[in-house]
Amino acid sequence: STERSTAAISAAEAHSAHNYHPLPVVITSAEGAWMTDVEGRRYLDLLAGYSALNFGHGNRRLIDAAKAQLERVTLTSRAFHHDRFAEFCTELAALCGKDMVLPMNTGAEAIETAVKTARKWGYRVKGVPDGKAKIVVADNNFHGRTTTIISFSTDPEARADYGPYTPGFEIVPYGDLAALSAAVDEHTVAVLLEPIQGEAGVLVPPAGYLAGVRRLTAERNVLFIADEIQSGLGRTGRTFACEHEDVVPDMYVLGKALGGGVVPVSAVVASSEVLGVFRPGEHGSTFGGNPLACAVALEVIAILRTGEYQERAAELGEHLHRELGLLVGEGAVDAVRGRGLWAGVDIAPSRGTGRDVSERLLERGVLVKDTHGSTIRIAPPLVISKEDLDWGLDQLRAVLAG
Ligand code: PLP
Repeated sequence: STERSTAAISAAEAHSAHNYHPLPVVITSAEGAWMTDVEGRRYLDLLAGYSALNFGHGNRRLIDAAKAQLERVTLTSRAFHHDRFAEFCTELAALCGKDMVLPMNTGAEAIETAVKTARKWGYRVKGVPDGKAKIVVADNNFHGRTTTIISFSTDPEARADYGPYTPGFEIVPYGDLAALSAAVDEHTVAVLLEPIQGEAGVLVPPAGYLAGVRRLTAERNVLFIADEIQSGLGRTGRTFACEHEDVVPDMYVLGKALGGGVVPVSAVVASSEVLGVFRPGEHGSTFGGNPLACAVALEVIAILRTGEYQERAAELGEHLHRELGLLVGEGAVDAVRGRGLWAGVDIAPSRGTGRDVSERLLERGVLVKDTHGSTIRIAPPLVISKEDLDWGLDQLRAVLAG
């Protein structure tokens, strides 16, 4: 019977804002790379909460860390110190090769924090005249949903009817170093980029682009802010996507998998010259850096330190991209992009829209999500077995064959 699902979906439609269009499935439990719905049907998760679940559903280490912390103390606010805070900041800074951390909760909050940090650095350190700071961003970016962040989005859906917009941003084509160079002027405080654009459809910039951005920003005394919220923490086969070009940005913005899919944890990580600009009272968050968040994130960092998941993502990712490449050859797919266990797959129009393919995969027990009409995105938990991944790819092949 599908009665329970239908009832849950119609109640959600009646009583929640329609800012999402979820697939018609109601999940009740999950483990590893698998989720179970209220009818008892199992589904292979090829989305992993937009990469928040890199270490899998119900990861034992993360759940145990959360449970132990739940029994001790969950929230102090930043009015007081707590005994997991210094440990978390020290470990995360070390993972990033930086000095300091500013913890927040969601990705958008961390991006807002990065914007505020860059502007304050611009005025206090670089010497930009008051009110003139400029941040250069890329077209098709996705950095979150706040009013300031959507002010520099190029997606009409994300922007419409939310004005007036925050000024101080210039948008250049992603991957175009000459355009970026032309946009950077004496008032520019930062360049903010996703090293791989996730929501845009897993767009990998041309080889040499990130290294070029690093060179250019260093020469012009401009901060390079890498939004690694989706690309970071193992997804691409390295801890950070920037590593593929041996690039170390001035600021890492992290989120999603930092909380292991258990709690929202985000952070800006940078040198003490950059994050040192803040004085008490100038920025904050009630929940940012709370004990539960720190305990879970500390376990995430310990897991990343083993390198095990990065290796899995690299190895299985090679396999994934080889298999998806075959679908391009067969004409079922127009293009495949990505790195590691992360792929954007443009469905050939003859095989239906991305939504059609997602719905047909759902019927076969595979969960993916479409983006921008014709693209589906494949980003399983990094714990997925090769056998399960192959089974998922078999279902995709079957769906595309009609
Ligand atoms: N930045 C990137 C690259 C993202 O992919 C996302 C979320 O999809 C965000 C920022 C925003 O994160 P949050 O939804 O936690 O605010």
